[in-house]
Amino acid sequence: MILYPDFYFNNVKEIEMEFLNDHRIRGLLVDVDNTLIDTDRNMLEGAKEWCDNLKQNGVKVCIISNTNKIKKVQKVAMELDIPYIAFAKKPAKKAFHKAMEMLKLVPNQMAIVGDQVTTDIWGGNRVGMLTILTKPLDKKDILITKVKRPFEKIIINRYMKYMEREQAEIEREQAEMDKGG
Ligand SMILES: [Mg+2]
Repeated sequence: MILYPDFYFNNVKEIEMEFLNDHRIRGLLVDVDNTLIDTDRNMLEGAKEWCDNLKQNGVKVCIISNTNKIKKVQKVAMELDIPYIAFAKKPAKKAFHKAMEMLKLVPNQMAIVGDQVTTDIWGGNRVGMLTILTKPLDKKDILITKVKRPFEKIIINRYMKYMEREQAEIEREQAEMDKGG
C-alpha cells in the first residue's frame, strides 16, 4: 500500500545506526517541519548529535522539504551541516531523483523520514526507498497540514492494526511450528 510507511518511530533520534545498517541504508532524506523543528522553529533536542553520529558512520543525510521558506531550511541545514532541497513538492518524484543524484545513491540504499503520509511517505514509496514515519513534533500544525491530519490518523490507525495482525500471524505460525516440532 503506497501510503503505508515501512516503519514508524516516535522521532528521528530513534533511527539508530544498527537499524540503518540492518537495512543497508547509506543515505537518509529528512523532512524539516515537524520532523526536525517544531512550529516555533525549535530544533528537536539532540538532533545535531544524532545527525553527527550518522554522518560519522558514513550515512549521507540530506534535507528534503516542501517549504518555500528557504531561510528556515538553510538555518537547519547549516546547524546540522548537511545539504538541502527546498520547494521539493513531495510526493512528486523529481526532488527525490535530485536527492539520489546529489548523494550518488540508488533507491534501495536510501530512506526518507518525515511526519506526513501524504508527502514524505507517499513520495518515498513512489521512488522505491525505505519509508519511515515519525510522530509530528508539534500539535500546532501549519494550516495545510491541519487539513491532512485526520486522513493521516486513519492511515496510521490502519497501519497499526495491520501490523498487529501481522504480528498475530507470526505468533500463530510460531506456535504451530513449536507444536509440530
Ligand atoms: Mg513535515
